Amino acid sequence: MAYSTDLTDAQWNAPRGLFSPRGRPGRRARISARRKVNAILWLARTGAPWRYRPRAYGPWGAIWQQFRRQLEYKTGWYGTELVVADRWFASSKTCSDCGVRNGEPKRGQATWVCPSCGAKHDRDLNAATNLARWPTLQLEAAA
Ligand SMILES: [Zn+2]
Repeated sequence: MAYSTDLTDAQWNAPRGLFSPRGRPGRRARISARRKVNAILWLARTGAPWRYRPRAYGPWGAIWQQFRRQLEYKTGWYGTELVVADRWFASSKTCSDCGVRNGEPKRGQATWVCPSCGAKHDRDLNAATNLARWPTLQLEAAA
């Protein structure tokens, strides 16, 4: 397995010391850290949904755990807080202009028009806008 987004041996040498050569103590890692990092890079660089990742990178759960660990490590490093939205938050279904929850945009549909207010949305930008507001919405809902 080799994809154009994979780290070369020289690129992997810099961060490799940050990863334990083994998984949990007493257990041998089934999927190498390098493979998981390559999967994350593939996802970030292609912009493809998780479900389209090459199967050769391994199971979704292992890649996701690695991604979460890296985010937690980086936010800790920079003294910031990692805010994790509820997994069922409808970030792509909700209109970021009027807040009305619509049906799921069709697969492969990059843009959509809100049937309630007529706003035209880029699917990913709309989801990102909603996710950026998620912490504020939680505070408002709790008040
Ligand atoms: Zn709307």
